[in-house]
Amino acid sequence: MKLYPLFADLTGLPVLVVGGGSVAYRKAEALQAAGARVTVGAPKLDERLARDVDDGTLAWRCGSFAPDWLDGMWLVIAATDDRGLNACVAEEAGKRRIFANVVDDAEQSRFHVPAVVDRSPLMVAISTAGAAPALARRVREMLERALDNALGTLVALAQRHRARILQVHADLAARRAFYDWLYEGPVLSRLRRGQPQQAERLLLDALHADKPRARTGSVTLVGAGPGHPGLLTLQALRALNEADVILHDQLVSAEILGMARRDAERFDVGKRCGGRHVPQEQIHRLMLAHAREGRRVVRLKGGDPFVFGRGGEELAFLRHHGIPCHVVPGITAAVACAAFAGIPLTHRDHAQSICLLTAHGKDAVDALDTPALGDARQTLAIYMGIERIGSLTERLLAHGRAADTPVAIIENGTLPQQRVITGTLQALPRLAQLHAVTTPALLIIGEVAAFAQEQSGYDERNGDGAARLATMEAELT
Ligand code: SAH
Repeated sequence: MKLYPLFADLTGLPVLVVGGGSVAYRKAEALQAAGARVTVGAPKLDERLARDVDDGTLAWRCGSFAPDWLDGMWLVIAATDDRGLNACVAEEAGKRRIFANVVDDAEQSRFHVPAVVDRSPLMVAISTAGAAPALARRVREMLERALDNALGTLVALAQRHRARILQVHADLAARRAFYDWLYEGPVLSRLRRGQPQQAERLLLDALHADKPRARTGSVTLVGAGPGHPGLLTLQALRALNEADVILHDQLVSAEILGMARRDAERFDVGKRCGGRHVPQEQIHRLMLAHAREGRRVVRLKGGDPFVFGRGGEELAFLRHHGIPCHVVPGITAAVACAAFAGIPLTHRDHAQSICLLTAHGKDAVDALDTPALGDARQTLAIYMGIERIGSLTERLLAHGRAADTPVAIIENGTLPQQRVITGTLQALPRLAQLHAVTTPALLIIGEVAAFAQEQSGYDERNGDGAARLATMEAELT
């Protein structure tokens, strides 16, 4: 079956829905939303249809279907649970050259109702010609995630100023450049932040300036989450799809990088060059240089940019240099590792607070001197703790943590190679040694660590889904 795609303007046109149940209600509702004048035909109506009839928004032909119901109709949808009756409606419609759809029956249908992603006035319709409606639903879900929620308002804005855009940019290439700027530049980001007036102002200013503004560069500090691609946020995914340049940490998984715009320039600034990290100052310089050239830079970090990620320093630096900067949060290692190891970070009976700590650097362990360290009702999540696990353990014991406090080491949390190792505080250094724990690993210390379970948290299906989504996104861009 080969279908001709069609978007119909039904404003003010009479259409018929045969059936009085919940399917008929859904169909009538969608048709009304598109402006059609809907009549439902059925011996009796369900509550919601009856209410619409009482309100006068819906007309009702009471009784069994008769072919003359079709008189004057432009379209008909047969939505009864009687296959024979549905077929009869379709046949009678055919005789009168009226397009008929039979719900869930592709063969009998002259037109199909697609699955839609609605960003009105932008509308994406998906059909498998009835071959696999469930698949169409999956595709719809993917597109729902991929298409920015602000796209509809952007299209509406462009529509409002279409005449002026055409006038100022009579040349097609210039017009395309202008629409590119609309889509990629500050207008869409304003709409995303719920600032339609500012967005419109920017658009009008740009039209007055007679030519699209040179794109201003920006930096987005993006949290990539702990590694599992399914734990990336939609905002992060969008930022990755719009990036011209990506400066990423070593912790960011290849699967996640695979979801970024194909032609984005990538720099692994976490890589040890000749045994050394790229120094922070150099990362600052790179961000600045690219942004000043008008590029959209994504600074991609493991977990959350503001949790032991030096995001604060980068933000301050960029602000100081007047570079527009946004932050997209990510799921931090403590939250993700705990979930994937089955550890509730707080628990009514065991822990009323959580403390995120780092033991990175020589001085960090010495600085760990808060009374909270000894509080049995507080969960400790320790980042970068493996290298100093010995002195860390001593300190916790010295602060009064019981030697038999449950602990969990989560190595490569959320990734296929995740390991969860459990034991007690006094055995912590030995555990790490025995199991040859490597980074990245997170330590969870406190009563709640007793809940730890090795589970296969990595869901293959999610992995595939993410890859599929990435492919789709790539096709979309
Ligand atoms: N900004 C990051 C933390 C960066 S510090 C965040 O919010 O998660 C790096 C440390 O984070 C690692 O040494 C380790 O302790 C922890 N970490 C990050 N990803 C991890 C993972 N997948 N599994 C276990 N620990 C992880």
